[in-house]
Amino acid sequence: MCEKHGMLGHLKARNRAWAEKRIEADPGFFQRLVEQQAPEYFWIGCSDSRVPASEIVDLDPGEVFFPRILPTLAPPQDANYLSVLQFAVDVLKVKHVMVVGHYGCGGVSAAVDGKRRGLVDHWLHPIREVAAAHRAELEALPAGSARLDRLCELNVIRQVRNVASDVFVQEAWARGQQLAVHGWVYSIRNGLVTDLGVTVTGPAEAAALG
Ligand code: ZN
Repeated sequence: MCEKHGMLGHLKARNRAWAEKRIEADPGFFQRLVEQQAPEYFWIGCSDSRVPASEIVDLDPGEVFFPRILPTLAPPQDANYLSVLQFAVDVLKVKHVMVVGHYGCGGVSAAVDGKRRGLVDHWLHPIREVAAAHRAELEALPAGSARLDRLCELNVIRQVRNVASDVFVQEAWARGQQLAVHGWVYSIRNGLVTDLGVTVTGPAEAAALG
């Protein structure tokens, strides 16, 4: 075996052990996955490694479909994200889109700390827009984590609005497809998610969200 093939050997060994454990617990597990990918949930969350989507809600691979973006963004100008959203809504026909932010998000705090980082500043621009739109509310909070945590919530609400106003989502509702868009925030401190109460299940509710 050449040297390069030996790289990441510990992860390959863990993968083999994981697959064996899965088969031991449920012999039909992989066969069912091969036959069908029919997840009901589409998860739009941060790529932060402390926020493992399927583990938090205790779902198996195949039950939840997700692109992971840093931080939690549903940017309507991003073709990659839009392709995945369309695939989830039109082809997989997911029933729930969950926009899941998390408190203490490094992407959210980097957006508003005033430091220049290069290309990523451009990517984080939508979060600065959310901060500017809610400046008075945010400035009324103590500077630091209280303010940043509220910005994490406001960002999720904004991304729920982006998803709900998206053409693919609007078209799905127009043809009577069942689809709900939810906004949640996850806390790394206690492992719990909070529903922000902005669930949208149709065009009227989407319009009411602003
Ligand atoms: Zn994050």
